[in-house]
Amino acid sequence: MKALFALALAASSWSCTSPAPESPTGLAASALGSEVQAHLERYDADYQALARASSEAQWLSNTHIVEGDDTNAKRTEAAEEALAAFTGSVENIETARRFLARASELAPLQVRELERILFLAGDNPATIPEIVKARIATETAQTEKLYGFAFTLDGKEVTPNQIDEALGEETNLEQRRAVWEASKEVGKPLRSGLIELRRLRNQSVQALGYHDFFAYMASEYGMTTAGLAANIDGINRELRPLFRELHTWARHELARRYGQPVPDLIPAHWLPNRWGQSWEALVEVPGFDFDAPLSSKGPEWLIHQAERFYTSLGFEPLPASFWEKSALYPLPADAGYKKNTHASAWHIDLDRDVRSLMSVEPNSEWYETTHHELGHIYYYLSYSNPRVPVLLREGANRAYHEAVGSLMGLAASQPRFVAAIGLSAGSAARPDPIQLLLQQALQYVVFIPWSTGTMFHFEQELYADELPSGTARGGDSRILSAGTQPTTQRQDDPMCFEPFLTRDQEGTRRRRVPLARPVHSCRRASTGSISAARQAG
Ligand SMILES: [Zn+2]
Repeated sequence: MKALFALALAASSWSCTSPAPESPTGLAASALGSEVQAHLERYDADYQALARASSEAQWLSNTHIVEGDDTNAKRTEAAEEALAAFTGSVENIETARRFLARASELAPLQVRELERILFLAGDNPATIPEIVKARIATETAQTEKLYGFAFTLDGKEVTPNQIDEALGEETNLEQRRAVWEASKEVGKPLRSGLIELRRLRNQSVQALGYHDFFAYMASEYGMTTAGLAANIDGINRELRPLFRELHTWARHELARRYGQPVPDLIPAHWLPNRWGQSWEALVEVPGFDFDAPLSSKGPEWLIHQAERFYTSLGFEPLPASFWEKSALYPLPADAGYKKNTHASAWHIDLDRDVRSLMSVEPNSEWYETTHHELGHIYYYLSYSNPRVPVLLREGANRAYHEAVGSLMGLAASQPRFVAAIGLSAGSAARPDPIQLLLQQALQYVVFIPWSTGTMFHFEQELYADELPSGTARGGDSRILSAGTQPTTQRQDDPMCFEPFLTRDQEGTRRRRVPLARPVHSCRRASTGSISAARQAG
């Protein structure tokens, strides 16, 4: 369903985003066409070089985080500023506008590229260099704070993977509350930076006529804020009857499990996910538990199996550089540095240099995640061909990109396929199809009210409405949309803030250079926001 949601968003724009395979020579009859083509080819080459430098710097900022060392931050800021100076340059904006004034004389693909140039400029207009520079510095600092954060529980440092495991397995409610609250502590150091980012992001895009940053991101879908909101609300409304059934089941099941009265809204620390974005861990399907067989395989096997999944569909093996340059496994405790622990897929050079950032452990969740991330990677590789200009190597839109990853993760988790690759749990019994559907619904259906309600409305309120604290109604949205409530009741408490910060940061990375970013940070953190909206996720 996550895929269907994204596909629905993508449907209206797919046809116009699928570039027609035109050759430059076909435009030779027009002097204007030739002039535009030469300009676009120069732009593409410059953009690719700057985007690659920016991605390489971002990659280091996300994979080698050393407390107190600002080397990476400085390099990242410099690379981002160079890219922003190019995409936002007055010359590039004016040239694109001049050519677009004669759009009817140009090929559709050229028009699309010129429009993309203006979209990229909208985020970095050279007319307000100080705002752009401050925004880049704030975004870089937020990333380092977020992913360099040391979570602690009972005075000891714990990893995000350990937090997730505890929320999946712990049965003592007091202990669950402690773990959940520990996971939210990261919000405190990030809060002031996000408020500042809101101001800077809004001011950046307002210079080229967008009302606010939210409207800017909606425009990438070819939609207005109101149009996108109506679309999203419609999806959520249609899904409501099914979601209510799942929510009712979960309320009763969790109350039984913890020996508590049945709540109207589910306390966040009862759920097996830090953000309450998917609840599939509530169901164990007899005959379909492949954690045990996976545990003896080792993490490397999961990624190689994911590659086999794609090669079995006819794709090429991953480039050798994927294996050499990716950061795929948890760091040893004595590494001396940290890395971003959220799964993501990167298109470093907008060509064959594709990488993934994960912390793979041999369990079923990471099994699905590896297939999901490789879905993004194979999508990158598929459109990185001579028929697609560098500037347009981004997929149909962010939601569609996420749909590809989600669909592949779901496909690879079907019982017959899992059994065929030797991951059956040793039981000959066929998994109960109703239980299996319930488990899938708790993952894919539950995600939709979270993304279309909580995340969407929070970001709309944050950027478009500029709510004073950015917190209060975000909490309301979560309650109304996803049927859960924060364990911490104070609406102004920064702990209410953290889930959104996380997603926002991931949106940042994608947004900074929408074509080159690790466009997709997925499973473990962040799908579903508009500013993170390529998925987004
Ligand atoms: Zn994804």
